Amino acid sequence: MRVLVIGSGGREHALCRALATDSQVEEVHCAPGNAGIASVATVHPVRATDPADVTALAGRVGADLVVVGPEAPLVAGVADALRAAGVPCFGPSAEAARIEGSKAFAKEIMAAAGVPTARASTCSTPEEATAALDAYGPPYVVKDDGLAAGKGVVVTDDREAALAHAAACERVVIEEYLEGPEVSLFALCDGETAVPLRPAQDFKRAYDGDAGPNTGGMGSYTPLPWAAPSLTDEVMATVVQPTIDELAKRGTPYIGVLYAGLALTAEGPRVIEFNARFGDPETQVVLDRLATPLGGLLHAAATGGVSGLPPLTYRGGAAVAVVLAADNYPASPVTGGVIEGLEAVEAECEDAYVLHAGTALDAEGRVIASGGRVLNVVGTGEDLTAARAAAYDALDRVRLSGAHHRTDIAAAAAESRETDGTL
Ligand code: AMP
Repeated sequence: MRVLVIGSGGREHALCRALATDSQVEEVHCAPGNAGIASVATVHPVRATDPADVTALAGRVGADLVVVGPEAPLVAGVADALRAAGVPCFGPSAEAARIEGSKAFAKEIMAAAGVPTARASTCSTPEEATAALDAYGPPYVVKDDGLAAGKGVVVTDDREAALAHAAACERVVIEEYLEGPEVSLFALCDGETAVPLRPAQDFKRAYDGDAGPNTGGMGSYTPLPWAAPSLTDEVMATVVQPTIDELAKRGTPYIGVLYAGLALTAEGPRVIEFNARFGDPETQVVLDRLATPLGGLLHAAATGGVSGLPPLTYRGGAAVAVVLAADNYPASPVTGGVIEGLEAVEAECEDAYVLHAGTALDAEGRVIASGGRVLNVVGTGEDLTAARAAAYDALDRVRLSGAHHRTDIAAAAAESRETDGTL
């Protein structure tokens, strides 16, 4: 099988790395890729959001499967164009991807499907926003209704700040605050049915102790020793299957990852958001532990074969990913700095490796920072304590002027008691 991956982040590096180790996959291609992806895949300088260019590339490389990483190409109709050209694509149509692209659409689907989520109001005027904020009370949750790369959400006790965010957006969803630890669950969907991957947790805030602004994600880990073993089955039954049933009923079957971002409240799991693609950086740790070859799995989902899959298998132990972010990320990241120490990680760290996110090569062939989230260090071990130690030990060897990272990724989980349901 020849596989083409679309995207250029740490998530795509993890996808390409997993596909490259699948014996059924002969060739891995990636567009546009990054400096690290080039070591596991053939990279192509093609614009990921152009459906015609991506379809032409799929034809040129003879792709048997295209896996779309980020949301923007999905919303642009890349999956539709590929399927129209007869190329199996793991990724939803533009219409089905609205589950991520429009928070209001996601709420409508959840209401119709009876999926548990926060009560919410869609507001287009200051009067509507004020009424909704007062109805739900603090902490206030205000979400830009458009696509905002995970950064369009403001959660605050400050009513003025909540109103200001609402005023800055054309249309917002204002909703009740959900109290409880957050979990990400990825379900691989074939339009009718779905198979879950193992749940993971990510860290959205920029600084230790969940302080600072929301980001695209600063770290992740799996498994979740504190979560109930029944969690995945419960979410599949109450959230994932009803959602894909509802989308199928509307004539927009969902093919690809349905990413359920959940709050585990005292009343049970509630959906915070859906995404139409793999989460970054949770994918990095989930795929690290997945033992089932990825190519066959994604091909089955892209071609309607999920129900025929054997049960998925996992490696034991744990994986922890820590994101190294550029100076001044997320406000306005400083790019161009040279990254040093990558060879040292490769040579000296048996239980850790680097996945590139915002990196590029400069004219002299040095790896430089080209984006806000620069790279991920993935550590593995027999448990979260060991995986954390491996990740941070490796990260200590990487140098980038002004860069920052969180030091508390998976710290509380490593200390938590197994399956006692608290974090
Ligand atoms: P979203 O882009 O919808 O995932 O929101 C980003 C982050 O904001 C989430 O990961 C949560 O930490 C937080 N958040 C969003 N909605 C809620 C909510 N209703 N209650 C509590 N926190 C929320």
